[in-house]
Amino acid sequence: MSKVHNFTAGPCVLPQAAIDAAIDALKDFKGTGVPVICISHRTKEWEAVMNECRALWRELLNIPDNYEVVFLGGGASMQFLYVAMNFLEHKAAYLDTGVWASKALKEAKGLGNAYAIASSKDKNYTYIPKGFEIPADLDYLHVTTNNTIYGTELKEDLDSPVPLIADMSSDILSRRVDVSKYALIYAGAQKNAGPAGVAVAIIRKDALGKVSRYLPTMLDYRTHIDKESMFNTPPVFSIFVMNETLKWLKAEGGVDVIHERNVKKAETLYAEIDRNSLFVGTAEKEDRSIMNVCFVLAPGKEDLQDEFLAFAKERGMVGIKGHRSVGGFRASIYNACTQEDVDALVACMREFEALKA
Ligand SMILES: *Cc1c(COP(=O)(O)O)cnc(C)c1O
Repeated sequence: MSKVHNFTAGPCVLPQAAIDAAIDALKDFKGTGVPVICISHRTKEWEAVMNECRALWRELLNIPDNYEVVFLGGGASMQFLYVAMNFLEHKAAYLDTGVWASKALKEAKGLGNAYAIASSKDKNYTYIPKGFEIPADLDYLHVTTNNTIYGTELKEDLDSPVPLIADMSSDILSRRVDVSKYALIYAGAQKNAGPAGVAVAIIRKDALGKVSRYLPTMLDYRTHIDKESMFNTPPVFSIFVMNETLKWLKAEGGVDVIHERNVKKAETLYAEIDRNSLFVGTAEKEDRSIMNVCFVLAPGKEDLQDEFLAFAKERGMVGIKGHRSVGGFRASIYNACTQEDVDALVACMREFEALKA
């Protein structure tokens, strides 16, 4: 098969080193003679993976000591419920920056008093609302730092007078974050941190235990903190590959190094979108994501949609069709996507322009 350039939004491209390690471990996990998916999670070999993975998260994101790192099933969508269960008592606010943010808010509304503090729905979520006041009486403010579907990104760690909670599913590990500004950060692994099947939650311990509702055992973050994410059987294979993904990131130089590369990839692609007469970007320039790059055909050229998709496919581009709610195209350029992948997409866009403009 010829070289493919994978721009899928998630599950998505992962480092080859992590894939290779997964293949090896499926044959023989750490010299035990047993495939990683057939070994007891109560063995010392497995516990070493859990410990290494937790330690890598701590190191890569510079997580302070008063935070815990847990691995949970159910994806980021299950975290929408965990957040409301574990933190909502009187009132919570959500920054409505897209479908994922709205889904998170819906779970909170089902359990109590929650509302959208600001929204960019008026322009199909093509920007990040700014300048909103954060009331001091909230249990928490929930933000989505990267809006995977629309290609917008909240690039700063907000100063919040109330506990700040962030869904970082699609930009975690893409840049440095000041973890100390958050009460909770969570992410589904399948965009930058590993394969689907596991979510990570980074929790400031003293932010827990403030709600009066009954918390089902499995939905109480404290259960998973106390049992070091092994209250029940963890998703071992997903965690194994996540650990290998983090090892790769560390070997590459960590989040600052990868951030520099991510910025360069994004600049390359946005520069082409802005230059190329056939395409226009959809997100406000100042809020453009460095992870998901969304663009459409220029006015009058819309009928070239299918033709460009086929043209790009022939040249090895995978997964550039935009989300159905936005249309057009989306190139997801996560950590494991290379400058070479982006350069190939840019070359493809230029070639298409030369044919059609
Ligand atoms: C993909 C995504 C989700 C949903 O993740 P699941 O693991 O499929 O539940 C939530 N939030 C954001 C920002 C996402 O990109």
